[in-house]
Amino acid sequence: MFKSWKKKFLATCAAAAVGFSLTFGTPAVASASLLESAIGIGIQGAAMSAQINANIRKFNATEEGRQELYQKFKDKYGVNNNAEYNATLDRVMANLTRGVAAIDPTIKEKPYIYFVAEQKTVNAACSMGHVMMVNAGTFEKITNEDEIAAIVGHEMGHGQKDHVAKGNKKRIQKMVTASLAGAAVGATIGGGMITEAVASVALNQSIAHGDRKHESEADMLAFDYLLNTNYNPGACAAVMQKFVEMSNGKKQSSMEKIFLPSDHPDSDKRRDAYVKKLHEYSGKHVTAKDGVVTVNNKTLMTVAATSDMSGAERSYFVLGNLATAYHKGQNKYDATVQNGTVMLGNQPIFTPATGDEDAYTIAERLNSIK
Ligand SMILES: [Zn+2]
Repeated sequence: MFKSWKKKFLATCAAAAVGFSLTFGTPAVASASLLESAIGIGIQGAAMSAQINANIRKFNATEEGRQELYQKFKDKYGVNNNAEYNATLDRVMANLTRGVAAIDPTIKEKPYIYFVAEQKTVNAACSMGHVMMVNAGTFEKITNEDEIAAIVGHEMGHGQKDHVAKGNKKRIQKMVTASLAGAAVGATIGGGMITEAVASVALNQSIAHGDRKHESEADMLAFDYLLNTNYNPGACAAVMQKFVEMSNGKKQSSMEKIFLPSDHPDSDKRRDAYVKKLHEYSGKHVTAKDGVVTVNNKTLMTVAATSDMSGAERSYFVLGNLATAYHKGQNKYDATVQNGTVMLGNQPIFTPATGDEDAYTIAERLNSIK
């Protein structure tokens, strides 16, 4: 049993060593102590563990380290130079940075370094050191800036709470140790190897979206950040609705790996959690379900689909605007129509599209039930 395990282990090590393109230290014969150190046992293991932590700290908390990681991310995932995508991300980052700073000023000490990655899937990641990337595929499939902000806000939630470096420390230790165990046969473990191994774990997207508790926390933080911007807080629920619809009828393997769904709670549960937040934010006056918006438990309207959004997805933007109006006391004022848009006090609520009821009908109904 032990023998076969050892054989298998050594075979794996040899294979891993071949793929490890690093400058090894002084070649040495594989020894028991080396293997022990490589799998984290004993004094050498403890020393290695300390070195791994030092490297996590470097990439996470020093300017030099995070710039190095940023470059590695760009090398690995490629940089997309589409002017429109980049301008959108610049705007979203600037707006959200202010939104985050309103409740978490530590962002000023470690501003995000980000880029648009040359990747087709709808995804984004934030690693150590506030190094962030948003895939080009995200901008291609999601054209609404408020929804992009909801996605980026989620990433900033991970960043602000240091989910990768602090929340994943044990997992990173395990992954790095395992990769070093592979490379250690026939070589000593040099400091450079540990640095490279920590970096390669940091580049792994599953590290950015690691566990469900962190995902829920990042989701709720995204909502709070959006409340401190001009973005519609309903966009968080809306983008989850889009994900639900994108994944309908598709197997996970063929669908876009949105936020790595296997690690995230299902999009419909995430959407419902956001709807609950909006309901609470409105003082429990407003909600929406399956495209129907209700005010004080009475139906306000059924929202029609447009060419790029289902009625359900659009309804969450109406909900976001109504929740904001209630939260800011605008429900004391009349609903009116201004330039084709239904207003409640000074808050725009809804601009009808083809298939919707007209603005005056909705304003009148809102006045009767608000
Ligand atoms: Zn996440």
